[in-house]
Amino acid sequence: MNRGAMKMMKNIKFDPMPEQRYEALLIDLDGTLIELELEQFISAYFKALTVHFAELYPPEQFSGHLLRSTKTIISHREPDQTNEAVFFDDFCSRVGIDRAAIDPLLHIFYRDEFPRLRSCSASRPDARKVLEAAQRQGLKLVLATQPIFPRSAALERLSWGGLSEDYFDLITTLENMHSCKPHPEYYLEIASRIGVSPEQCLMAGNDTVEDISAAKTGMGTFLVEGGIIDRGEAALPSDYRGTLAELAAFIENDFPPAKV
Ligand SMILES: [Mg+2]
Repeated sequence: MNRGAMKMMKNIKFDPMPEQRYEALLIDLDGTLIELELEQFISAYFKALTVHFAELYPPEQFSGHLLRSTKTIISHREPDQTNEAVFFDDFCSRVGIDRAAIDPLLHIFYRDEFPRLRSCSASRPDARKVLEAAQRQGLKLVLATQPIFPRSAALERLSWGGLSEDYFDLITTLENMHSCKPHPEYYLEIASRIGVSPEQCLMAGNDTVEDISAAKTGMGTFLVEGGIIDRGEAALPSDYRGTLAELAAFIENDFPPAKV
């Protein structure tokens, strides 16, 4: 076992249950697979969208509506509507504009403007090691990023980390999910979608609530260091904790190859 793995082992809470065999790795994007200055990014993102829509809607009110509609998605937990449907129902009624008028502008925004936000981000060299280790072990791989962004924006952020969508069996997006982190419904929908029981999923991420709340569904959890968002008293204990390199070593050392 290498030194990195040894260091991480000290943080491992051993479970009295028999050894767990993970079949899937769920991994967060922002602050986990890529560096992201979250506050700077959100602020720049809202500002850019507001400017982009200035011809259609007064900028003074636009970002407030956007924020409230985003909160509406995050609080939505019913399986009846996708996050996309929830967002547009809420946002269009707030601004009094049909989706047909918003869609073309949004398409242009994500194509031409969103990529400029790359300056808030940086790649993490060890991210690829984790994904390749998971692939070698035959794990299903899910990019478990907060599904408040369209798929195009998830793929763009992946590219900031020099990473490809080809690694993943599932990428959670505005269009394909019906709830958000930290709700159990989000994690259960992923497990159901990939056909793996929650107990056989390991969720890795940098947020002590949004990512580690996967534990409420029976999933294993790995808190990724290097950009931890600690929610203080609300923080949940993770099963494991370490750097991305340590996560890669953990997968390599402890997961037997998939049986064919
Ligand atoms: Mg994150």
